[in-house]
Amino acid sequence: MSFSQLELSEPLLQAIAEQGYEKPTPVQQQAIPVILQGRDILAGAQTGTGKTAGFTLPLLQLLLNQPKPRKPHPVRALILTPTRELAMQVYESVRTYGKHVPLFAEVVFGGVNINQQIRRLQRGADILVATPGRLLDLLYQKQVDLSQVQFLVLDEADRMLDMGFIKDIRKIIDILPERRQNLLFSATYSKEIKLLAEQLLHDPVEVAVARENAAADSVSQRVYAIKKEYKRELLSWLIGHNNWQQVLVFVRTKHGADRLCRQLIKDGIRCSALHGDKSQGARNRALQAFKNNDITALIATDIAARGLDIEQLPHVVNFDLPAVAEDYVHRIGRTGRAGAEGEAISLVAPEEAHLLFAVEKMLDKRIPRVADTGYEPVALEPQKTARPKAPQGKAGPAGTKENKGRSGRRQSRNKTPQAATAAPAKAKRTRRPRQPNKA
Ligand code: AMP
Repeated sequence: MSFSQLELSEPLLQAIAEQGYEKPTPVQQQAIPVILQGRDILAGAQTGTGKTAGFTLPLLQLLLNQPKPRKPHPVRALILTPTRELAMQVYESVRTYGKHVPLFAEVVFGGVNINQQIRRLQRGADILVATPGRLLDLLYQKQVDLSQVQFLVLDEADRMLDMGFIKDIRKIIDILPERRQNLLFSATYSKEIKLLAEQLLHDPVEVAVARENAAADSVSQRVYAIKKEYKRELLSWLIGHNNWQQVLVFVRTKHGADRLCRQLIKDGIRCSALHGDKSQGARNRALQAFKNNDITALIATDIAARGLDIEQLPHVVNFDLPAVAEDYVHRIGRTGRAGAEGEAISLVAPEEAHLLFAVEKMLDKRIPRVADTGYEPVALEPQKTARPKAPQGKAGPAGTKENKGRSGRRQSRNKTPQAATAAPAKAKRTRRPRQPNKA
């Protein structure tokens, strides 16, 4: 199938051609015709499948099909996203695909000055991309009018629920006109998503492009079983030895991100941390530097990295495995996007084995182990004793998890005689990590 078979008008096809897209991705093939028919959809599409164009292109087309509104254009399509980064990204996509059509888009999200957003909104916007919290602020201040909204998109709805946005979303939906077309995109189908879909969608067409929770086939996945204390050194070595130019590294906590970043800088690796405690300006700068290849490694927490679209990102490293197995799929979805080859490496310490098994259970497959890690082999075995359950859903306060991690390490050092007597020098790599970034 080609884009020209999709009943999109010439200016949209031109923008697609300028992006170099040759044919629609499976989610686009399925979703675009259905959305153009005016149907609600429930789309199970993970990030990296081209889902953004899958809803943006038909939305632009549907708006173009309508009589041109008077200026300032009222908001006719509302797209809600969980994070500011995803909001920016979707907004950029709308602008890219809509660059040859006379439609306006705006984006609003928290963490930046609201007054500038208010001023921009006053100029009118056909499509508004927003995070729920900031949109509610604007609604309460009567600075945005949603009375003309005919299209609602919930992008990465599962993540919005994980982040506790359900109440905000419901408040926003209550404000919207009842007659509208609803598009719900979610990488996973939890009970909560199914419930929301039942309440929100009218006779939806279900679109699913990958098996629930399946990882993209274009990503090669590997596990390094390694003691926690050697992870940083191994990561430096992998970057330097393989001469990686761009690697996204996931850690579980904000403090963990900052600490790892400081350590990598000492190893001569250019890197920045991306997490929720950073100001929006700092987050944008870090992301831009990463996209421009000014830094080699971006160290990110799950929330901050959600929805990031960095073209052809070749390497993703799970420095820590996520507490919620589904996040693994989102993380590795950063690589191997839209058919490009990608590599996802997980550094797994014995105490994280249960998280790895949860991921493998969800994927219904075993992730290959690297036989020779260069370090003393460690076994990843199921826990015999019951351990406290990992927190589900939200990435809780960074401090909490961080502290748990610390005390866990200290205990094992103090209490386990083998650990105390194991000579790290022996266990360490004989290969020295070389300085990867020459000045
Ligand atoms: P998304 O899943 O929407 O985040 O998109 C993932 C990536 O796929 C983005 O970098 C898009 O630019 C790219 N993309 C979207 N549609 C296509 C297409 N039809 N052909 C090639 N790349 C695409």
